[in-house]
Amino acid sequence: MDRTLKAGIIGAGVAGMATAIRLACMGYEVTVYEANDYAGGKLTEVVQEGYRFDAGPSLFTLPELVDELIELVGDRAKVDFEYERLPVICHYFYEDGTRIEAAADPEIFAQEMASKLEVEAQEVLDFLAHSATIYDLTASLFLERSLHKARTYLLPETMRAIAGVGKIDAFRTMNGSNEKRFKDARLVQLFNRYATYNGSNPYSAPATLNIIPHLEFNKGAYFPKGGMHEITKTLVTLAKACGVTFHFGTRVDHIVTHQQQAKGIRVRGKVHFYDVVVSNMDVYPTYKRLLPQHRAPERILEQERSSSALIFYWGMNRTFPALDLHNIVFSKDYAQEFACLFERQTLFDDPTVYINISSKYQPSDAPEGGENWFTMINAPANVGQNWDRLIEQARHTIVEKLERVLGTKIKEHIVCESILDPRSIESKTSSYQGSLYGTSSNNRLAAFFRHPNFSRSIKGLYFCGGSVHPGGGIPLCLLSARIVSEMIQNKK
Ligand SMILES: Cc1cc2nc3c(=O)[nH]c(=O)nc-3n(C[C@H](O)[C@H](O)[C@H](O)COP(=O)(O)OP(=O)(O)OC[C@H]3O[C@@H](n4cnc5c(N)ncnc54)[C@H](O)[C@@H]3O)c2cc1C
Repeated sequence: MDRTLKAGIIGAGVAGMATAIRLACMGYEVTVYEANDYAGGKLTEVVQEGYRFDAGPSLFTLPELVDELIELVGDRAKVDFEYERLPVICHYFYEDGTRIEAAADPEIFAQEMASKLEVEAQEVLDFLAHSATIYDLTASLFLERSLHKARTYLLPETMRAIAGVGKIDAFRTMNGSNEKRFKDARLVQLFNRYATYNGSNPYSAPATLNIIPHLEFNKGAYFPKGGMHEITKTLVTLAKACGVTFHFGTRVDHIVTHQQQAKGIRVRGKVHFYDVVVSNMDVYPTYKRLLPQHRAPERILEQERSSSALIFYWGMNRTFPALDLHNIVFSKDYAQEFACLFERQTLFDDPTVYINISSKYQPSDAPEGGENWFTMINAPANVGQNWDRLIEQARHTIVEKLERVLGTKIKEHIVCESILDPRSIESKTSSYQGSLYGTSSNNRLAAFFRHPNFSRSIKGLYFCGGSVHPGGGIPLCLLSARIVSEMIQNKK
């Protein structure tokens, strides 16, 4: 009888857990090693003084990718994962007093834009249709398959994407394309913001990233009942139900290889042997720390990293009716903000502020009469800036800006605070330079320069998660798990 094949997975981020579930469902005996004493990596939670916060991701799209895993595990697991589609995606606030409520329904959204900005509703609808076209042409090639296997290029959908290359707008920057399409600078800024969904700069990222609004407006933005951390809890339940073993508080020190073949991993001096090894650890430290004996693909590893973030988790002792689940208070000068983040590698003195308030949907996330404010600004990747000084300045700037634009007192209502910054993102998740989404998409070839889901030089070694193909963000991480498991299956 054939012996059961064994898989060792490094990291219990969403992609590591999704890969574990998929491999276990394929019959592998799967063990996951996680350095933290909790699962989820960036998708964890912070609890303080009666307030609960989702620590990292707050926007949930493509929930069907979680459903797919629930279906795969089937009756073996009892999970209660529910989510609702948001009727309003975001509240936008500008320094000139403009306020926009971005309804999820494209028609209502377009009408709102036409009533507040210098734009015809039809122009907005045309833009969303364009976003859908980019998705239809590119998703199956750029998101759902390996870009690094020859067979991908023989598929009919690849031919279709190549034939439609003109339509995917890869040769202009996102800002260049949006400025050409819309004359109202506030509208350009609103759509440029989508570049930040993968930590990129709209002034250099290709306009193909205009695919992202399609995910929110046409496919939908969702809120999981219980908050984003329910995704992590669900993945842990599914993995355990199909027999995956977790070792928390267990950092992998080394990937053991023999004659260019992955043989296992080493933890606290002890070697564990596996038929396949999957790293959900950021690809940069995977090579630098776990594979010092191998030549690393330096050109790929040295790609510019995505932006990071500075987050203040604020417990507020009152509610703010003008705010919704997702809120953006824009910077006056978006171009300068991105120049600051990516060229000068520091914080901008008038940053765009994102406030996520999950207690709007999940009242138990804050004491009665209060709100849980996840208050975030984009930050440069960590290259040793004086973060303590920058954080002090940023707190002051953010409070001042919010009080000015929202026209209400903020500071005196903050009753507790904790902070996540690029240093702590790096130390808590091993994300190189604290980047949120691996490498940035700040050039048109970025998708091809992201590390593949397999090692070209070490057989049996695979990679999943936000630092490798197809990129960062929960949906793409879940897709990386699907790509990796399909590769492993095809190899069998
Ligand atoms: C502040 C913030 C906001 C975000 N907002 C959104 C959003 O709104 N929507 C969205 O979709 N995405 C968002 N993201 C991005 C999203 O969180 C990530 O892309 C995704 O969670 C990354 O998952 P991953 O599988 O790559 O693993 P990670 O979450 O990076 O986890 C990797 C895991 O591997 C473990 N590990 C590393 N090295 C070792 C080792 N040697 N041994 C054992 N374990 C190891 C780490 O401890 C960690 O738990 C956000 C991220 C952050 C930080």
